Order: sequence, then C-alpha cells, then structure tokens
Amino acid sequence: MTAAPISAATQAFLDREHKHFINGEWVSGTGDKVIDIINPATEEVITRINSGTAEDVDAAVAAANAAVKGSWAALPARERGKVLSKFADLIDANLQTLAELEVLDNGQPLMMAQYTVAGFGADFVRYYAGWCDKIEGQTIPVSPAEAPAGGSLTYTKREPIGVVGAITPWNAPIAMAILKIAPSLAAGCTIVLKPAELAPLTAMKLCDIANEAGIPPGVLNVVNGAGSVVGAALSEHQDVQKISFTGSTGVGQTIAKAAADSNLKKATLELGGKSPVVVFPDANFETLIPGICRAAFFLQGQNCMAGTRLLVHKDIAEQVLEAVVGALAFWKVGNGFDPEVLIGPLISAKQRETVMSYIEAGKEEGARLVTGGNAVGDKGYFVEPTIFADVTSEMRIWQEEIFGPVLSVMTFDTDDLDEIAKMANDSIYGLSGSVWTQDISRAHKLVQMIDSGQVSINCHAAVDPAIPFGGNKMSGWGREFGKEGLEPFLKTKSTTVVY
Ligand code: NDP
Repeated sequence: MTAAPISAATQAFLDREHKHFINGEWVSGTGDKVIDIINPATEEVITRINSGTAEDVDAAVAAANAAVKGSWAALPARERGKVLSKFADLIDANLQTLAELEVLDNGQPLMMAQYTVAGFGADFVRYYAGWCDKIEGQTIPVSPAEAPAGGSLTYTKREPIGVVGAITPWNAPIAMAILKIAPSLAAGCTIVLKPAELAPLTAMKLCDIANEAGIPPGVLNVVNGAGSVVGAALSEHQDVQKISFTGSTGVGQTIAKAAADSNLKKATLELGGKSPVVVFPDANFETLIPGICRAAFFLQGQNCMAGTRLLVHKDIAEQVLEAVVGALAFWKVGNGFDPEVLIGPLISAKQRETVMSYIEAGKEEGARLVTGGNAVGDKGYFVEPTIFADVTSEMRIWQEEIFGPVLSVMTFDTDDLDEIAKMANDSIYGLSGSVWTQDISRAHKLVQMIDSGQVSINCHAAVDPAIPFGGNKMSGWGREFGKEGLEPFLKTKSTTVVY
C-alpha cells in the first residue's frame, strides 16, 4: 500500500489487521467503524485500524483493574524493574520498525524518529525501570494522642494510584505513549491508552513488544478510536483513578471537568504552548541561530514547547533574521524518508489549512513576511518554514498557538528586565522558554521572572527523561518526566503502630 523504502518487518506490521490490545490479546472490539491511517507525506492510506467504543473501554479497564490488584501487584518491585528493562531493550531491538512506522504515520524525518525511539522510547523506559525499587515512604517521629510516647511507630507507604487512563496526541506519538506508560508501570499502576486516531501505529507496536518483554496481560491496554468516544469514556470511567492527558488546552478542560464530575479522578494535563525565546545583543550567534531554528521548526513546529515568539533586541534584530533565513536554506522540506529532509509534512490537510489560515491572518494584520508563507507540492501536507517580523502583541500569530512552522518576531529596545519579562509573559500559556545571553546574572534574573514550567539559558527545550517538564497557566496541571513525573501515579498511606 506504500511506496516508502521500508523494512519487511514494518510492511508486515502494516499489512495485518489492527485491533485493540486488551488483556494481553488483540481483539476486534465492538465498534463497526474503521479508520484510514494516512501517510501525511503522500496522502496514501497505509493501513486501517478498528475504532473502539465505550464497551471496549469497559473491557480494557476491567483487565487493567484485575492486573493492578493481581499479577502486576504480585511482582516484587525489583522484578517489575527487570521486566521494564527488558521492555526497553526490546524497544531498542525494534528501533528501525518503530522509527519507520513513526515516519509513515506522523511524517517526521527518519533521523528524528530514530533519535526519539532511542531517547524517548528505550531510555525513557530504562530511566523509570530504575525507579521501581526506589519508591520509598518515610518514618515520622511523632506519637499520636492515643499512642504512648516511645511506644509507637508511624510510617508511610507509597502505593500505586490504580488504573491510569492515558490520552495522547499525534505530534510525537511514540514519545507521548512512552511517557505515559513508563512512569505508570514503574509506579505499579496499569494503563489503558488511547492514542490519537491520526497516528496510532507505534503505540500498537509497543503492545507486541510489551508482550514479548513479559509484561503481564492487562497491565498495558490500548483502545483505538475517537477522542469523543474512547477518550471521553476513559475520562468518565468510575474505575479509572487517574487521567494522564497530552493535547490541546480545550480538550484538557473538557477532560478535567469529566474527571471531576465522575469519580474525582486525579488528572495530569500537558497542554498547549507559545513559548518565548529572548535574545540579547551579546548572545553567541554560533549556537543561537541553529537554536532558534530548532526551537521554532523542530517537528514542523507541531511541538508544544516550540519557541514561536522570538523577542530579540532591536540592535541585532535584522542581523539575527538574516542569519536565521540563511540557516533555513538547509532545512529541506519533504518526505521524512529523504535523509536530507529536516521538515516533513504537517499531520493532516486540516492542520495545513489551520496553519495557512494563520499565515493569512499574519499578512492581513500587517506583519512583515520575512520568509516562507507557502504550502509546498501537490501531494502531502507540506508548509514552508515561515517567519513574520514587525509583529505586535495583539496579533493572532503572537497570541495563539499555531502548531505549525511559523515564527513570530518582536523587538525590544530596553535593558529593563521587568519590561522584557512582561513581553515574554504576555500569553495565556507558560510551558517552555529560553534566554540567550553571555551575561549569566541577567539570564538567571530573567529566568526567575518568566512564568513557564521550563526556561533554559542558551538552549531551548532541553528535555531529558530525568528533567521535570510541564506547564504553568493554561499549559496544564502537574509535571511529567523525572522523579516528579512518578508522583502523580502514587498515593500515600500513613500507618501508626502502637506497641
Ligand atoms: P487534541 O487535544 O485535539 O487531541 C489530543 C488527544 O485527545 C487525542 O487522542 C484526541 O483524540 C483526544 N480527544 C479529543 N477530544 C477528546 C475528548 N472530548 N475527551 C477525551 N479525549 C479527547 O490535540 P491534538 O491531537 O490536535 O494535538 C495538538 C494540541 O496538543 C496542540 O494544542 C498542542 O500544543 C497540544 N500538545 C501539547 C503537548 C504538551 O506536552 N503540553 C504535547 C503535544 C501536543 P482524537 O484521536 O479523536 O484526536
């Protein structure tokens, strides 16, 4: 069904029937709809998946509930870690197939997909595998009223929160799936995952790998289908104790309401962003220019932490723009299987339409188009990397998350950090950001004033399995990654023993 130069293993995966993964088995489910999976670079249908129902979610949650109290709970913590380590090793062993599926499904360049499978697939799982036998409680040196002094012991234990419902977007599908699965399973929880309909293939391949790794039936389940059906059923489910969601702010708000109105399940929400990149005249151009390109255009700009609001000092603004445009000449747009390509297609025709409408809005509102601005080719959802200068704060391209390769540029002409921070914080979002200067005192002062979950100095979006990541303001609730990313999957039990 596809002309892409893919391995036999990837083709065999595409050719089979794609069902739901419930209790360790592939099952057809009760839905009567199938979803075409489209290669965004060619617009070809590469395979089809079954679309699930609320009944399929019930079956998956029942399996997860049995496993969280049964097989997964029975496994000693260190053994759980070993199973997860094996899962990580097998992700590495399947790197090429996973990466090829990611390119076909999502469009990103192959090299990027390979890097993601290794760094945010295998290494991420490995990082959390290491936590399994280090989840510790405390002893508390108090004697409650009824306990005689010296004759009591109070301790806490960290327990898995229960069944996790995970809902993920299409922009970095395998990374999104793994960053829900790994901490859930490390904490001793079980999970029902609903991947985005637009890019579900790597999540399904992970189920095969989980089986091979010896993850018991019911611990990892995947139900495919529409957000409004499968996602909603998970958010509302009485036996789901936690929702972990990555996606748009609007859907995050719907899920938070459903979580509260059903069983007050806990929720972690990783939502949108419109992150500032603040550049002072003393910034090092050698790292700054590729840094700006990566911040804005990595994953075609379909990236929640993208640095799409460039705030640059007036004295160097034109010089920076010229250098960035020069660097973009090497950012070839095309099919992700072409090794020279750095910008693949957007995920869908609809997403391309949205991005093009923002480009039109930028022009209409009077911003200066510095480069790009066009859709590319007759087939595939390609858009050129686009830069607008002379942007003002009321323009939509400055305020709204575009989720495409569009960078908006404003200048500042002051040393007053309060004023600069005010411009950086002029957004409903607060996910990421960066400050570029050789003056480290100035950098640290400004970092403290920027209201984002992550602000880097002389780099942008430094993500690693060990570094907490998440949003302030309307970019979300809670943190993922790192030790903090384990916390939302745990609950504390306090016990006092009188002796
Ligand atoms: P959406 O919020 O539309 O979708 C995300 C997931 O939620 C999909 O699986 C979708 O299902 C599902 N969903 C949709 N409606 C509901 C519902 N009513 N109840 C439960 N689940 C639902 O986001 P996109 O997939 O369009 O991704 C783009 C957005 O996500 C951008 O705003 C971006 O910033 C944000 N994002 C944030 C990230 C972060 O870490 N903060 C990372 C990546 C993206 P369906 O399959 O039907 O689409």
